[in-house]
Amino acid sequence: MDPLPYLAGYPADVQMRVRALRDTGRLGDYLAQRYPEPHAIRNDRQLYDYVQALKDRYLRQSTPLHKAIYDARLQVLKHALGTHTTVSRVQGGRLKANREIRIASVFREAPAAFLEMIVVHELAHLKESDHNRAFYNLCTHMSPDYHQLEFDLRLYLMHQDTASTTAG
Ligand SMILES: [Zn+2]
Repeated sequence: MDPLPYLAGYPADVQMRVRALRDTGRLGDYLAQRYPEPHAIRNDRQLYDYVQALKDRYLRQSTPLHKAIYDARLQVLKHALGTHTTVSRVQGGRLKANREIRIASVFREAPAAFLEMIVVHELAHLKESDHNRAFYNLCTHMSPDYHQLEFDLRLYLMHQDTASTTAG
């Protein structure tokens, strides 16, 4: 059997359980039950405020954030789960790092927990560029359930794909 697109790299028994959930049409219910809360972060202005508030709470000392936007062109899995760029610019003769966070626009409609998870992921990248132990420690510091959320986010994305295919 082919690996599930969002779960490549996960153990076969995990993939089998998820496949069963999907093929019996229970994936949507599972997600709706666990993540009933929507969020109200509709535009880039609100997204910036939301990201900044989380940053102030957990990473006040790190690089200032200049921009946070929803990006419709962003493929969620392409760059791990989001993207984070450092745009270097010469300003007043010295190089200044301008940090921006782009969030795939699928998160605009996603449950609140998944938006928080992806923002935590991107904020952690302000301090750690790799997905290493220190990176995940930061993620779980900001969001204790981080690993479960990241896993369930994969199920959510898989369900979105299935739903849009069926809707035709
Ligand atoms: Zn990442």
